[in-house]
Amino acid sequence: MKVKRLKYLPIPSSMKMITFFWIIFTRQNANVTMVDENHEEIHLFQKLEMAAIGLGVTAILCALGLSPWWLFVSLITWHVWYGIEWLFRLVQYRDFHTAYRNIAFEREAFSNDDNVSYLKTRNRFAWIKYLRG
Ligand SMILES: [Zn+2]
Repeated sequence: MKVKRLKYLPIPSSMKMITFFWIIFTRQNANVTMVDENHEEIHLFQKLEMAAIGLGVTAILCALGLSPWWLFVSLITWHVWYGIEWLFRLVQYRDFHTAYRNIAFEREAFSNDDNVSYLKTRNRFAWIKYLRG
């Protein structure tokens, strides 16, 4: 992961950083730890796995007549799933923060972000086992 420090970052002050692909954008004085970087890298692996699923599904749908423009949607498969699961967890827990912490992607990341060698031993789609609960 690459950390890019900006003078101005257009995100709420409660947020420390925002990540696009392998680049973590943060404020100049923010303390980005190895745990933070590992957390975001776990999400990057999840996003790549979800993009592969999305690409496969949209490729099949395109072969059946859907516009090829839908292939771009595969790039945000992780984000779509994240949002839908967050809504589901919000109904389940009736609390924004608890809902966020219980999204399977976040459960996996928070459970393993202090283990810097986790990604070397992680199984593909490991986040699926964090769906239960
Ligand atoms: Zn996270």
